[in-house]
Amino acid sequence: MNRQELIANRRAVARCHMRLTIFHLGGVFALLIAGARVDDYLTEAHSIAHSIFVLAILPAILLLVASLVWQLKRAFRKNNLLCPVCKARLDGSNGQVAVATGICGECGNHIIEECGEHS
Ligand SMILES: [Zn+2]
Repeated sequence: MNRQELIANRRAVARCHMRLTIFHLGGVFALLIAGARVDDYLTEAHSIAHSIFVLAILPAILLLVASLVWQLKRAFRKNNLLCPVCKARLDGSNGQVAVATGICGECGNHIIEECGEHS
């Protein structure tokens, strides 16, 4: 991977990260709003339905959060944004160090091909 590829991959993952976060947080808020509306509708007479609804909405929210985490991990792998040596994510300060110096900010190994190098 050269420096330009690393920069392009960081941008691709940042866009993907933003899109996935907005989508999943939107889903969580939609579930919470739907839960509040249904909660207003259900009365004491519907206590079993209320319990089932509450027991179903919490795992749904956890599934959305787990899906977000899993898809972000996949985006890092797919865009080759992991250190080839230690598999640390090359976002945040790790990625900034790698772009600036060619060295992984986590393990300190050289991970960027310089011009003229081939691997
Ligand atoms: Zn590393």
